[in-house]
Amino acid sequence: MSLNRRDFLGASAAAAVMMAAPRVNGQARPHVVVVGGGAGGATAARYIAKDSKGAIDVTLIEPTRTYYTCFFSNLYIGDFRTLDSLAHSYGTLASEYGINVVHDWATGVDRDAKEVALAGGGRVGYDALVLSPGIDFVEGSVPGWDITAQNKMPHSYKAGSQTELLKAQVLSMREGGVYCMVAPPNPYRCPPGPYERVSMVAHQFKQNNPTATILILDPKPKFSKQALFEEGWQKHYPGMIQRLGPDFGGGNVEVRPDSMEVVIDGSPEKVDVCNVIPAQKAGRICHEAGLTEGNWAPVVPATMQSRMDENVYILGDATSQGDMPKSGYSANSQAKAAAMAIRGALTDARTFPPRYSNTCWSLIAPEDGVKVGASYEPTEEKIAKTDGFISATGEDAAQRKATYEESLGWYSGITSDMFG
Ligand SMILES: Cc1cc2nc3c(=O)[nH]c(=O)nc-3n(C[C@H](O)[C@H](O)[C@H](O)COP(=O)(O)OP(=O)(O)OC[C@H]3O[C@@H](n4cnc5c(N)ncnc54)[C@H](O)[C@@H]3O)c2cc1C
Repeated sequence: MSLNRRDFLGASAAAAVMMAAPRVNGQARPHVVVVGGGAGGATAARYIAKDSKGAIDVTLIEPTRTYYTCFFSNLYIGDFRTLDSLAHSYGTLASEYGINVVHDWATGVDRDAKEVALAGGGRVGYDALVLSPGIDFVEGSVPGWDITAQNKMPHSYKAGSQTELLKAQVLSMREGGVYCMVAPPNPYRCPPGPYERVSMVAHQFKQNNPTATILILDPKPKFSKQALFEEGWQKHYPGMIQRLGPDFGGGNVEVRPDSMEVVIDGSPEKVDVCNVIPAQKAGRICHEAGLTEGNWAPVVPATMQSRMDENVYILGDATSQGDMPKSGYSANSQAKAAAMAIRGALTDARTFPPRYSNTCWSLIAPEDGVKVGASYEPTEEKIAKTDGFISATGEDAAQRKATYEESLGWYSGITSDMFG
C-alpha cells in the first residue's frame, strides 16, 4: 500500500480524528468513515482500504479494542472453544491496511454537513459513510426485563462478558435446576443462535448436571432448522428440553429478576438460570441518524445504500434488506458489495452486479454439525433468495462431522477476511 503508516500509528484519537476530515484539512483523497468494527464494518473497512490501494482514506470508529465474535460464542458455552479464540484486535487493520482506527462511540450523524459526532467530542467528515452497528434491544419487549437486569438474567446476545456470565451461571446451577430461555420474536440476530445455545447448554448439563432441565419460552410458532434440532435433542438429550410455543403461553411471558421467576400466561414459575433474549432493532446510531423505518434501516439491494441517503451505506443486522438472515456471513457478504459500490462512486472503479450468500452452521453435540444456506441476488425491491440448501435429518455421523469441520474452516476464513 502506498499509505504512510506514520500517518495512522501512534496518533491520539483526537488528533487522528482531525486528520481524518478531508474537507476540513484540504486532503484531496476521498474519505470513508465506517461506524462499527464487527462482521460488516471491519470487512467493509478492510476491502475499501485494500482494493482502493491508497486512493481512499478510511476511518473505522469502534468503541471496543477487542471484538468478541458472537459466532462460535455458543461453542464457548459448550466448552468447544476458549473465549480467547473468539477475540480479535484491530491492529492489523491499522498497521497493514492504513485504516485510521478510532476507539470511540459515534453519537450522531449530521447528514447535511456529512459529519459524524463522537462521544469523545470530535467530529469526523466523510464523503461516504458506512454504518454497521449491529443490534440494540427493543425496550419493554419482555415485561420485567431491562438492561439493568442483565446480570441476573443475561441476554448473552452481544459476546464477551455476557457470554462468560451465562456460562458461569450454567456451570454453577444447582443439581436438577431449571434453565429457562426466553427466545426472541422474528426478525432477530442469527435465527438458529438460540437453539444452538440450548444444544450447548444441554451438552454441559449432560456432562455435569444430568437431572437439570431446559425450558424454552418461544413467541414463534416455528424456528430455524427446527426438525434438525428436535431430532438432535431427542438423540443426545432425551427428556431434558421442553419448548412452549405461542399456543402454550410461550409468547405471553413476563420475568421477575429479583425472585428469579418467569410468568407464563399469568402463571409464575421459579427458575434457576434465565437467559432473556429480547426483541431487537437496528443499532441506536441508525435511529439517531434518521435512517430507520420502524425497527430497521431500509437499504438499496444492489449497493447497500440507505433508502434515505445515498451517501450512507448500511450493513448487516441493522438493515431491512429482504431475504438474507441477520448473520455474520450475511454482513460480510453485504460489506463486499458496499465496498465495491463505494469505490465505484468515489474513484470511478468498475462495479458489477453483486451476488450475496450465506451459510449458518450449528453444533448440536460433539461433531454433530448441521447447516442451512442460500444464494441471493439484488432486485429493485429486495435482496432475493435464488436457491438454498439444508442438512437432512437422519444424516450419518461422518457427514455431521464433516459439516462441523467445515464450520471451523469458515470461522478462520471469515475472521481473517474481517481483520486481515
Ligand atoms: C449466539 C450467537 C451466535 C451466532 N452465530 C453465528 C454464526 O454461527 N454464523 C453467523 O454468520 N452469524 C452468527 N451470529 C450473528 C452475527 O454475530 C451477527 O449477525 C453479526 O455480528 C452482525 O454483524 P454487524 O456488523 O451487523 O454487527 P456486529 O458484528 O455486532 O458489529 C457491530 C459493531 O458496532 C459497534 N457499534 C455499535 N454502535 C456503535 C456506535 N454508535 N459507534 C461506534 N461503534 C458502534 C459495536 O461495538 C460492534 O463492534 C451469531 C450471533 C449470536 C448472538
